[in-house]
Amino acid sequence: MGIKVAKFGGSSLCDAEHFRKVKRIIESDPDYCYVVPSAPGKRFDGDDKITDLLYQCHRLVERNHSHEELFQRIKDRYSSIARELELDFDVEGLLLETGDDIRRLKNPDFAASRGEYLNGILLSKYLGWDFIDAKEVVKFDRQGNFAAEWTNEVMKEALSNHRRAVIPGFYGAYPNGEVHTFSRGGSDISGAIVARAAQAEVYVNWTDVSGFMMADPRIVDHPRVIRELSYRELRELSYMGATVLHEDAIFPVHKAGIPTNIRNTNDPDDPGTMIVMQPSEDRFKDQVITGVAGHKNFTLLSIEKAMMNSEYGFGRRVLQALEDFGVSFEHLPTGIDTMSVVVADKELVTRKDQIIQRIQQTCQPDSIEISTGIALIATVGHGMSSTPGTAAKLFTALSDAGVNIRMIDQGSSEMNIIVGINVDDFETAMRAIYSAFVKD
Ligand code: ASP
Repeated sequence: MGIKVAKFGGSSLCDAEHFRKVKRIIESDPDYCYVVPSAPGKRFDGDDKITDLLYQCHRLVERNHSHEELFQRIKDRYSSIARELELDFDVEGLLLETGDDIRRLKNPDFAASRGEYLNGILLSKYLGWDFIDAKEVVKFDRQGNFAAEWTNEVMKEALSNHRRAVIPGFYGAYPNGEVHTFSRGGSDISGAIVARAAQAEVYVNWTDVSGFMMADPRIVDHPRVIRELSYRELRELSYMGATVLHEDAIFPVHKAGIPTNIRNTNDPDDPGTMIVMQPSEDRFKDQVITGVAGHKNFTLLSIEKAMMNSEYGFGRRVLQALEDFGVSFEHLPTGIDTMSVVVADKELVTRKDQIIQRIQQTCQPDSIEISTGIALIATVGHGMSSTPGTAAKLFTALSDAGVNIRMIDQGSSEMNIIVGINVDDFETAMRAIYSAFVKD
C-alpha cells in the first residue's frame, strides 16, 4: 500500500486524552508515515485556542505590557499534556526557551507558529517519530506568497530522509529564514503540501466532524453527510460558504491527484467524506445533488438598455467600471436587453456611487436598478447535468415555499445552479431545496 499523510486539527490535539486517540489512529495503520498537527484547540465551549493566546501574548510583549500570566496559561496546557502522557524530556526548558524567543523576536507570526511547533515536538516524542521543523521545509517568497514548487522540492528531499516524521502545520519561512504563517486554519494547507511531496495515496484530514454535510446543520436539521465529493464540487461548495477545510488546502493535493479524506478523531470508524478527482459512476443513482450552500450580503445591479445585445463592447464597459474601482463580481447573468451583475456588499461599501456614475457615463443605459439584501444559494452536484428535470425541481421547490427568485445562474459546467433571493428567504429556501432533493 502507499503512504498516508494525516493532519490533526486543534480539537483533535487539545489535551492528553486526544493525543491518546491520535496515537491509536496512527498505530492502527502502518501506512501512516507523516503527521501534521495543529496547535491545541478548545477543550470545551468557552475554552481558549492556543493560537489565539499566542497572538494575545505577542500583542502584550509588543506594548511592553506584562504577559507572564498569559504565557503561563499557554505553558500549563503543554506541561499538562506532557505530564499526563509521561513524556520523558525537558518540556519546561523548551517552554522557557520559547517564551524567550517570543520576547526577543517580537514577530506575531513567530509567536503564533509556536502553537504548532510545540505540539509537533510533543507529538513526535509521544509517537517516537522524527520531528521536521516546518521552517526548514515550507517556503514563502519575500512578499510572503507561498512558494509551492520550491517547497515541494525541499519537502520531498527532507521526507526522503525520514521514514516517519511529524511536521508542524501552519507555518514556514521567508527566504531569510524568518518564520511566516499561512492564514488562520492553515495547517490544512501544510498537510496537503506534505501529502503532495510524499506522493501519498491519500491525505487524511482528521477533525471533529465526520465529514462534509450536505447543508449547513444550523439551518437544515440533521443533514446527511456527503460520502463522496469531487474537488470541483468542493470548490463550489466552499466558495459558497461551506467550511471544513481551508480553501487553499485543495490545490496541492488536487494538482497531485491525491484524494482527501475528512474524518472524525472522536469517531474513527466513520469513513467520513472522501474528496476525489472524479466522481464514481454509481454515485448519482439515488442522489442527484451533492450539497447546498449559500451566502448572504450581495447586491444586484440590474442594467437595462434597449438593443443592448447589438451594441459592441457594452458588457466590457460595465465590467471596466468595476475593474477601475477594484471591485470583483460574483455572477453575470444576461438577457437580450438586460445585464445583471452580482457583487458582494463588502466590495461595494464605499464605491457604489462612483461605479454607478461610471456605468451611466460609459454605457448610457436606460436604467440601473440596485437591489441590496440579496442572498445566493448554490445547489451543486455532478449528477445535475445528466438528470433531466433538476432545474424544474429546484424552482418548483422554491415557488412552493413562497420564495421569489431574483436571479438564476447555471454554471457552464452544469454542475451548479445558483439562485439569488431576498435575504429574508435564505433559510426557507435552503430547507426547501434540501428537502426537494433529499428524501429521508
Ligand atoms: N492554529 C492555527 C489556527 O488556529 C492553524 C490551524 O489550526 O490550522 O488558525
